Amino acid sequence: MFWDKKIETFDRAALEQLQLQRLRKIVRRVAAHVPFYREKFAELGVRPKDIHTLDDLRRLPFTTSADLRANYPTGLLAVSYDDTLRLHTSSGTTGKPKALFFSRQDVENAAELCARSFVMTGVTKKDVFQNMMTYGMFTGALVTHYGAEKVGCLVIPAGPGNSERQLMLMQDFRTTFIHLTPSYALYLATFLEKHGVVPRRDLALRKAFVGAEPYTDETRRKIEESLGLDVYNSYGLSEMNGPGVAFECEHKHGMHVWEDHFLIEIINPATGEPVKNGEPGELVLTTLTREAMPLLRYRTRDITSIITKPCSCGRTHHRLNRITGRSDDMLIVRGVNIYPQQIERVLMAQSGVGRNYQISLEGLDEMTVKVELAEAGFEGQVEQLMKLQSQLAEKLRAEILVKPQVQLLPPGSLPVSDGKAKRVIDNRKL
Ligand code: AMP
Ligand code: ZN
Repeated sequence: MFWDKKIETFDRAALEQLQLQRLRKIVRRVAAHVPFYREKFAELGVRPKDIHTLDDLRRLPFTTSADLRANYPTGLLAVSYDDTLRLHTSSGTTGKPKALFFSRQDVENAAELCARSFVMTGVTKKDVFQNMMTYGMFTGALVTHYGAEKVGCLVIPAGPGNSERQLMLMQDFRTTFIHLTPSYALYLATFLEKHGVVPRRDLALRKAFVGAEPYTDETRRKIEESLGLDVYNSYGLSEMNGPGVAFECEHKHGMHVWEDHFLIEIINPATGEPVKNGEPGELVLTTLTREAMPLLRYRTRDITSIITKPCSCGRTHHRLNRITGRSDDMLIVRGVNIYPQQIERVLMAQSGVGRNYQISLEGLDEMTVKVELAEAGFEGQVEQLMKLQSQLAEKLRAEILVKPQVQLLPPGSLPVSDGKAKRVIDNRKL
């Protein structure tokens, strides 16, 4: 199903023509209205009229999250303060957040892209959407909320957590689809199980859009099996409207990036140079339509690769493979580069293992992987547990080249978060 078949299946040449037109316009706008970009252009000796082809994008400066913080609160605005309609912020770990402004058209576009994304998996106005993203300053909930309303769905702004109420709402209002983080999805599955709810039998739930943090295909399968539904990967970041940048279609094989609104590059994070087609690297996005805060070549720090092969759904917009992590998530343990997702993949593929885990780094580079068991009642089965523990340690060593300590814990012992999960606790004294 299509929301806007013409644009979603646009011929590539026409799409690229549209991108070039929009790129030139946005470059002219930031040169005229944003001193930060004017100065960057002057440093690089580039003028808006030098942009003749899409390849000229590479002449333009990168924008980083440090630039957003340095220009807090209004330094990157390209419209007058009166023409802004909504403010979101993106949480910073320290100090000031990033301030992200939307114009009326930006709010409209963000909803439109979410509407497209929902509809491509078969969502219609008959569906009931229970939104389990965090409402508030985050983009995650409001943008998906407006997207589903645009489709005409009944929207229940539940927010995350409070699983008892979630269950009541799902039962009473016949919720058919949800949007949530993978960690909350796993928690919700455990909660339903504990309460004897068999989702496929007792609920109308059919689809979950899962995103906001990295997760593996193994986790997707776990969520699908335990909640009895289809999981579609949903990608976005506050700097680019929030959700709706890229979503999976019904084939669930890579996320279509809405390329009429965003230009994609994949670069080597160390050199800034493009990687070869299909190779992994850091995703860099340029907004093509944002009015209030256009961003050129924004370094997302998310690691992924691009799929340029046509998709059997007929959409021509290129796809992104699952995000395997952030370039700044990488751990270096005993000199080896490790992404937490490598560990997750091993854990979630192992039978007997539950749904929550944590990686703890201590002392002089000691790694402990703490993971919950699938079921309680393992007490007394010492031999079995020891076997599972050593199996996991071996499999992890094969994957990450470092042999961690493995700690098996009863279900429900690790902390759960309503928002993004904290998977790595680094207390090393290095
Ligand atoms: P925020 O700054 O809160 O908008 O979060 C955006 C970040 O969340 C992205 O840059 C990614 O690192 C992460 N993220 C969002 N969606 C996904 C997804 N589907 N898979 C992996 N990571 C994601
Ligand atoms: Zn497709």
